[in-house]
Amino acid sequence: MSSSPPADIANPRLGLADQAARRRTFAIISHPDAGKTTLTENLLLAGGAIRAAGAVRARGENRRTRSDWMKIERERGISVSASVMTFDHDGKMFNLLDTPGHEDFSEDTYRTLTAADAAVMVLDAAKGIEPQTLKLFEVCRLRDIPILTFINKMDREAQDPFALLDEIGSKLALDPAPLYWPAGSGGRFKGMIDLRREMFVPFRKRGSDDEEGHPEAVSLKGNSLAGFLDEAEQAEVEEGAMLVQEASKPFDVQSFLEGHMTPVFFGSALRHFGVDQLLEGLGAYAPPPKAVSATKNGESVDVQPGDKEVSGFIFKIQANMDPNHRDRIAFLRLTSGKFSRGMKLKVQNTGRQLSVNAPVMFFASDRELAEEAYAGDVIGIPNHGVLRVGDSLSETGTLRFAGLPNFAPEILQRVRVKDPLKAKHLKKALEGLAEEGVTQLFRPSIGADFIVGAVGQLQFEVMADRLANEYQLEVIFEPSPYAEARWLGGEKADLEDFMGKHRAAMATDIDEQPVFLAKSSWEIGYVSERFPKVRFERSKERA
Ligand code: GDP
Repeated sequence: MSSSPPADIANPRLGLADQAARRRTFAIISHPDAGKTTLTENLLLAGGAIRAAGAVRARGENRRTRSDWMKIERERGISVSASVMTFDHDGKMFNLLDTPGHEDFSEDTYRTLTAADAAVMVLDAAKGIEPQTLKLFEVCRLRDIPILTFINKMDREAQDPFALLDEIGSKLALDPAPLYWPAGSGGRFKGMIDLRREMFVPFRKRGSDDEEGHPEAVSLKGNSLAGFLDEAEQAEVEEGAMLVQEASKPFDVQSFLEGHMTPVFFGSALRHFGVDQLLEGLGAYAPPPKAVSATKNGESVDVQPGDKEVSGFIFKIQANMDPNHRDRIAFLRLTSGKFSRGMKLKVQNTGRQLSVNAPVMFFASDRELAEEAYAGDVIGIPNHGVLRVGDSLSETGTLRFAGLPNFAPEILQRVRVKDPLKAKHLKKALEGLAEEGVTQLFRPSIGADFIVGAVGQLQFEVMADRLANEYQLEVIFEPSPYAEARWLGGEKADLEDFMGKHRAAMATDIDEQPVFLAKSSWEIGYVSERFPKVRFERSKERA
């Protein structure tokens, strides 16, 4: 770990609002295999953050061999943990938030997207919109996150680009506005027309050891195209470009920012084609951090990125990246002010103050101490369980951002440790994982078992793996009698009445809040009819 961040982060000439304005904090969403990892790597390459392709994967490998955590991730070839990569390029600071692609981790992805100001949706040109793309898209829409579309794998046989645009329009109810238009695909892929500049960007197939890159873009005027396309190809791409411009609405930044339109880019992440253009598009059109609504001493306020008070919220906790040093990193998305290392911040709901002496930023290849950070940036704060997902931090400790919701789990299992002498140890480990937001933990009011809740089966496997590797606990998951969990809401007297009559089905969650465990969804319908004043909630925001 070095203590010197890239020089231009600390650009003393820029004020707070200017610093925020040059931030681009975004996530990439895609269906597994569409090319998210490859694109991440090539964006880092384009942004000058890494020098050789393969570095992102290699970084993952190093981390894994070093700490040997997440064997599952390796075995299944899926990315389980989310992190952030920062790079400075062309006067902008880019913060790329990594999201897990597998649907069992959608809760994690949802939380990460709360920290993103824009998203890049990667589509496989042969497959178009796939189920997980659609789900993640819906989360973005829910949070009003503007989306840029990158149609990847043009170097492979692709669907007709008109059909791909139609699919975006019909399945996502989003106006696609192509900024480029491809010439062919697969073996006949020749490049793309830059529709805004009336240039042709040629694609050159490269051998694996060829570092020369793609030829420079040429003007459409004159006959420079002839060097790259035969007559038929020229006619085809020019006609396509003309038709698509007639058929689609012109790109309108405002409409994009409001979530009605998506600029469409084409390329091949693997061949590093179209990636520079995507990065340029992110710099030009993706929004800088916005004002965030919060409450201050109970009153509604808008926290502006240029506000002096340093503030932010925790959207992710990652623990035990290295089991030899029980570290736990809380990811803080800054919403205002200029953060400097050593600063004291207060947690709103607990009033606890912490000195942030060793914040880390993740500069692609390594993590480094962050000396300074601004609205839009994400810093990792090492701590020992003081910070939780959803916490609001600020200098005065009075700002509170809307909490990040927990969702009712879809699978509930009983967990037992094989060695009964380790029961106490198990409790601590389960609490740790629940605080991280990996799984949810419920303690039934009767009996000594723990019930663990998750959205997908894979989360249980990850959990068992982590309990074994990080806590040396062999656990068994068993079916539980419960199928649903609901948080309760309503007047105290009504709640007490309900809980008194259902003691055997009551449990508490990690925040000691009461949870009703039901054997079926039918039972929830039944009790809601009998106790109309009690609300049975599928999600909760931490108090
Ligand atoms: P992820 O699951 O979305 O992270 O996808 P990956 O980046 O791991 O890519 C999945 C597979 O598609 C890998 O074998 C990549 O090498 C391949 N791939 C990614 N981008 C491209 C591309 O532009 N062209 C081709 N031909 N293959 C690609």
